[in-house]
Amino acid sequence: MSWWRAHGVRVRLTLWHVAAMVVVLSVYAGVVFWFVSRQVSDGLDRRLRSDFWWAAALVDQTPDGQIVWRYETETGAEDAFWIQVWSPEGELLFANSEALRVPVPHGRELALQGTDEITSVASVGEDIRILTRRGCISCAEGGSGMARSVIIQVGRSETPARERLSELLFVLVVGGPLAVALAGIGGYTLARRALSPVERMTERARVITADRLSDRLPVVHPDDEMGRLATVFNETLARLEASFLQMGRFTADVSHELRTPLTAIRSVGEVGLREPRDEVAYRGIIGSMLEEADRLASLVDRLLNLSRAETGGARLAVDEIDLHALADDVAAHLGVLAEEKKQSIVVDASGSPLARADRLVVRQAVINLVDNAIKFSPIGGRIRMHVAGARAGVILEVSDSGSGIDAESRHRIFDRFYRAGDSPGAATGTGLGLSIAKGAVEANGGKLTLEHSDARGSTFRITLPGATPASRRAAS
Ligand code: ADP
Repeated sequence: MSWWRAHGVRVRLTLWHVAAMVVVLSVYAGVVFWFVSRQVSDGLDRRLRSDFWWAAALVDQTPDGQIVWRYETETGAEDAFWIQVWSPEGELLFANSEALRVPVPHGRELALQGTDEITSVASVGEDIRILTRRGCISCAEGGSGMARSVIIQVGRSETPARERLSELLFVLVVGGPLAVALAGIGGYTLARRALSPVERMTERARVITADRLSDRLPVVHPDDEMGRLATVFNETLARLEASFLQMGRFTADVSHELRTPLTAIRSVGEVGLREPRDEVAYRGIIGSMLEEADRLASLVDRLLNLSRAETGGARLAVDEIDLHALADDVAAHLGVLAEEKKQSIVVDASGSPLARADRLVVRQAVINLVDNAIKFSPIGGRIRMHVAGARAGVILEVSDSGSGIDAESRHRIFDRFYRAGDSPGAATGTGLGLSIAKGAVEANGGKLTLEHSDARGSTFRITLPGATPASRRAAS
């Protein structure tokens, strides 16, 4: 069994093919041989029966009762046959030259049995097939004597028939293996040709590693079995590649996103330790640190969801969210960072537009924008969040008083890891904040755009689907 498995599909296919051919050819050869030998044997019997009538017509008797052959031609005839005539008492009355040349044993017994039978008898050097039958001499009109009942034996040698059968057997025995060998070579060549794409695929697949997931298998005929296999394999590779990329991005995103809340916890802790305080103040500080830690935990959850969103498996907790309340929340959350740079964060809203989105995911996007606004605005700068209903849904804008983004960088700032300029803000960043924010907004069916940027500051706009008709009315 292990030998069987160790050999390639090609060899196994060929062997199966050859085995099937051997079975089919053997059965075929058997049937042909049986059929032909029946034909030959029946033909011989038929000829014996016609020989009998000929013999009965051509033997005659002289007036003194001697049995003779009417014509002398029979001895030299091509088709000379074997004939003996017996009296009903078992006396041999006549034997032609062929019968004398090839005498058969037990001829008398056979004659006396007198049945209308065909028997094969072994004689000197050959087998004779004999028909024994009762006949009548001088019964025909013009006979020269009295009608006389006799037993006539006619025979024919089986050798010519045997020779024909041996020739057929030779053809079958020699031709069969030849046909099997040809079928084997043909089968092997076919299997080789059919499986050659697999060889090529194997070679290519062997060099595809985690670093070379962008490689693909060759697809020669996309519609046949091999083509479909290669296509499916390529699709699997594409999915693998996407997952690998996603994993890499996710790791980068996580480290980036965790940095801001960790800095916030650290800042709260440092401010708390700066001077001695009473228990209530410490409790307050520990409380806000725990709050940040909770946010951190849920942020990790959201990041996971976001990452799944990009691979198509996100489960967003979509709900109606009040963007005004969300802006206030983010302002309070990042207030400590702004305070460090003596900046102010202002929220202004026309009404309370409601969006349909996942609150934590959108909050993260807004945090990233405000975090950038703080980073890129000078000390004492001003950050403004504006919330309003709009024609296409609801919007939340974040404007800063930084030095703006130069025209070259504007179309690249949403790329992952892209950092523009040599400001301290850009130097400490990782270039992921905006791409994460964009991904988060788009996962909620919204848009993130850079609305405006010049030397006095920049404005980013988040547009989200509105939640209720009220939000749409507010837009008009
Ligand atoms: P990071 O997380 O490092 O801040 P982002 O993806 O958020 O990266 O930003 C990418 C680049 O876009 C920054 O390096 C910066 O040059 C530019 N940028 C983003 N926001 C602002 C902004 N409010 N003002 C000026 N430049 C900005």
